[in-house]
Amino acid sequence: MSDERLFRLYKLHQVDEKLLAIKARAEHLDVGKRELAVAKKLATDNADLLAEAKATKQKLAELTLKEDQANEKLEKFQKQLYDGSITSSREIAHLQDEIEMLEMLVVTTDDERKALLMSSKESAAAATEIEEKIAKLKEQAVKKRAHAEKEHAELQELFKQTGATRASKESEVEKELITAYNNARKRTGNTGLALITPKQDCGSCGIDIPEKVREVVRDGKTTPCLSCGRVLFIHAPGELD
Ligand SMILES: [Zn+2]
Repeated sequence: MSDERLFRLYKLHQVDEKLLAIKARAEHLDVGKRELAVAKKLATDNADLLAEAKATKQKLAELTLKEDQANEKLEKFQKQLYDGSITSSREIAHLQDEIEMLEMLVVTTDDERKALLMSSKESAAAATEIEEKIAKLKEQAVKKRAHAEKEHAELQELFKQTGATRASKESEVEKELITAYNNARKRTGNTGLALITPKQDCGSCGIDIPEKVREVVRDGKTTPCLSCGRVLFIHAPGELD
């Protein structure tokens, strides 16, 4: 049998180890930072191409609108020309001039739009490909973030449940031992107890533990590891927990 006094501290240490592990998991959740960084880099590296594609798209939209408006006017004027609402020859001549100008405008605008569409075809395709990649990465990041938030809530609950068992474990340990344990926790920033391994070294920092120290530990004395300061504990042979 292990020393009972130290064994009770070991049980407290096991709870603290679990709490530390939960905390570490919560701190290392994947919230999609990598995907967002890659998306940002893609956008930066291709800023010129993306800006050009955006400007071209806008220009194409403007040309389409211009052409649509000219066609609308044309239709209106042609209607006026044949519905008998205009009779003066001067007005008819003026309307015919307008129609001719509009027809010209439709043709040149259409030519301009088609030429721009052709000349920007390759860069537009490249830009679309990059935009799709960026959108996909952002979508992945959103998914990862949502998943991490869910996991974080679960870990918080687990932390609460595990933490609730701590007080009773602590109350079973002698004050003097708690002080040594807490000092070691403060010093290491994590655990306050280390197991002596079957290879006779400190399970936390790896330093050799001499036989005479092991004997003192077996006798149940509060013994900090000379290297890391953790309270040493040794399992009796064959003892599992
Ligand atoms: Zn150590």
